[in-house]
Amino acid sequence: MTNISKALRERLQRSYLLSRPDVLKDLVSMDGTTKFLLGLSDQARIETVLIPEKDYYTLCLSTQVGCAVGCLFCSTGRMGFKRNLSAGEIAAQILVARDYLRRRGLDAGRLTNIVLMGMGEPLLNWKEVRRAILMITDSLGLGFSRRRVTLSTVGIRDRLQEFGRSRLGMLAVSLHAPDQELRRRIMPGAAAWDVKDLVLALENYPLAPRERITIEYVLLKGINDSPAQARDFVRLLSGVKCKVNLLACNPSDEDDFQPPGQKDILSFEDVLRSKGMTVFLRKSKGQDIRAACGQLKAEVEKKDIS
Ligand code: SF4
Repeated sequence: MTNISKALRERLQRSYLLSRPDVLKDLVSMDGTTKFLLGLSDQARIETVLIPEKDYYTLCLSTQVGCAVGCLFCSTGRMGFKRNLSAGEIAAQILVARDYLRRRGLDAGRLTNIVLMGMGEPLLNWKEVRRAILMITDSLGLGFSRRRVTLSTVGIRDRLQEFGRSRLGMLAVSLHAPDQELRRRIMPGAAAWDVKDLVLALENYPLAPRERITIEYVLLKGINDSPAQARDFVRLLSGVKCKVNLLACNPSDEDDFQPPGQKDILSFEDVLRSKGMTVFLRKSKGQDIRAACGQLKAEVEKKDIS
């Protein structure tokens, strides 16, 4: 017998113990973006990026150490997959950012937006990511609004639908190519699901009336940035309720990919806009601190070895 209500017992069972990772490095960019290199209990390293917006902060969380998708333009992809993060390791990245803001006398309550867009493919670690989002959004946990949690994926069959049914957060899909052949070439681990089937799943993805899927497209000079490819992109997504984030890739000395010139970026954007798409041209933040996914960890480990 107990006089604690069933609802309260269930909530107590969802109690969370989060331990903070070690902050090995924090780098602040000229644009205010802060990148943390974090050390986990088994010496694995991950990155977390705090991005200042006009009147709030967004935190980009890692969900795996390394990544099996192997996108050629991504430092994390070149590391290969090491291990999944636990739900606690994912959620605890938020504590690091809150501590950091408080130490500087800034309002940690302004950290309102979470994107699961750092190292790793979240839907390849779905069980722990699901638990982490529950911790992040529970009022007894970290208390974030589900509408301000975005999971970014290349699209993993079955789990995409599961995430949609769970209503745990908003969806962003990293497309980066308008056809299967190019996508297979630059994102080999995403090729198992043909892009046309992925798009079909997006057309049927459950959305509330005003919700839209975010499509992420990193522009790579001479690879996926031509007007013809922009037109293919528009055709491919014609049945998807979406908005598009266009972002020029960060220049890197580790690969052959370079950002297109401003003229080509604007031409690509114009094609999308002229066909009625909602497009946001995102500025690449934190270039001076190597804020693209995995760049800092790769650089530090290279120095450790040499
Ligand atoms: S871009 Fe994302 S999915 Fe692709 S290798 Fe990097 S972390 Fe993995």
